[in-house]
Amino acid sequence: MEEVRVRIAPSPSGNLHVGTARTALFNYLFAKKNNGKFILRIEDTDAERTSQEYIDNIFDSLKALGLNWDEGPDVGGPYGPYTQSERFDIYPKYIQQLLDSGFAYECFCTPEELEAEKAEATANKKPYVYSKKCEHLTEEEKAKLRAEGRKPAIRFNIAKAQKAFHDSSILEFDDLVKGKLHMDTDLLGDFVIQKSNGAPTYNYAVVIDDMLMKISHVIRGEDHISNTYKQILIYEALGVPVPRFGHLGMILAPDRSKLSKRHGATAVSDFVKEGYLTDALINFVALLGWAPSDGQEIKSVDEIAADFRIGEISSSNSIFEYDKLKWMNSHYIKQLSLEELEERLKPYLEKYDLTELSKEHFDKMIEITREPLTLLSDITDAVEYFFGEDVNIDESARETLDAETSQDVLKDFISKAENWEWTEENLHEKLEVFRGEWKEKGIKPKVTMWAVRAATTGRTRGADMVGILEIIGKDKTLNRAKKALK
Ligand code: GLU
Repeated sequence: MEEVRVRIAPSPSGNLHVGTARTALFNYLFAKKNNGKFILRIEDTDAERTSQEYIDNIFDSLKALGLNWDEGPDVGGPYGPYTQSERFDIYPKYIQQLLDSGFAYECFCTPEELEAEKAEATANKKPYVYSKKCEHLTEEEKAKLRAEGRKPAIRFNIAKAQKAFHDSSILEFDDLVKGKLHMDTDLLGDFVIQKSNGAPTYNYAVVIDDMLMKISHVIRGEDHISNTYKQILIYEALGVPVPRFGHLGMILAPDRSKLSKRHGATAVSDFVKEGYLTDALINFVALLGWAPSDGQEIKSVDEIAADFRIGEISSSNSIFEYDKLKWMNSHYIKQLSLEELEERLKPYLEKYDLTELSKEHFDKMIEITREPLTLLSDITDAVEYFFGEDVNIDESARETLDAETSQDVLKDFISKAENWEWTEENLHEKLEVFRGEWKEKGIKPKVTMWAVRAATTGRTRGADMVGILEIIGKDKTLNRAKKALK
């Protein structure tokens, strides 16, 4: 059986998009499942929109997601180079082959002439297809145009290829995801495969690269379906086997429009910056089109690979539910060991002087604040009151502290706490007694603790009170409580 070889071929015109991450994942899973190879190719032919920063971002993001490639620009492989801009000397040979076999022709039309054709089609309310004006130029006519200084683009002759290999203008293929798809190729128009400046276009370069890299299956977004018809015709015209194609549905925002930055993060690196774990992100992304056979949605990439069948991918669009991703993220955060979690939280604690806390207190702080974390970045706010002398009093704490009862509770708390031994066990006991005494005076334990919490943390909700007092220590506790007195 032929070796399964799949690829992801991002254009570095931006940071790695979650949609591309999903395409990469499905290719990766398909390769794993079939003992095949997963290849990374950088499609940087559009030099103006390409930057090294984006290329690095693509590498880093795929690696962070665990989608390691077998062949690619950095690791090499038998069919390199794996960066399109380094392959420019490869493309002319096959252009010549297509010209020689009559499946391509030179087109000398100027942009103005093409614009005029388009304007006419628009005026007649017809879809635009190139007029094929240059298909039958004689050698003399071409020589004359060249003498005028015109440089030809090369166009692919659709009707010629279609007639040579098919019975009608209808081209059909069996999509791995969507089943049989077809199109009337008369509507495609003879597209440019090499620009007048000699640069290959996407549809042509991608075929040459996929052919030479022996790609067996092309799995990509459904926005490429119309390209697929063009690409199949090029393969046929070159007389080489056509790979199998599979097209994934689109990823839509919760409002069913195209997912964009106005909905939230879209680049993998932005999700990471916002405090998502890549394990959660890749698990979530897998569920955009794929469903586990046992209904258990929380799965590692290895578990997903074992259960993955490309034919079972949904052919419809998927909705990117940010809330579900958040839920998954909080689940994954809970699974981390304290040590792993601390490591990942570090970037979000940079604004604090961590030397204020002993290692033991730092561990305890994370232990008592980790439960409600949805994003790693939530930690920044969650631990604010552990640092510095004073606290910022929020509105609800202010209200609490303004109440007369709170003031009475605090005065009592200060006078008693001065004499407390500051250990977890003792604080636990003493606070219990303290609450009991105020309960006897008709004050609910909850209300008593609100006063202490508001004074020492500036908030009315937060982590375990005993833990907080122990970590911030006796001095800070008393100073803050005294400051909260009117
Ligand atoms: N560079 C193309 C893109 O980023 C690749 C499409 C393909 O997979 O053929 O959309």
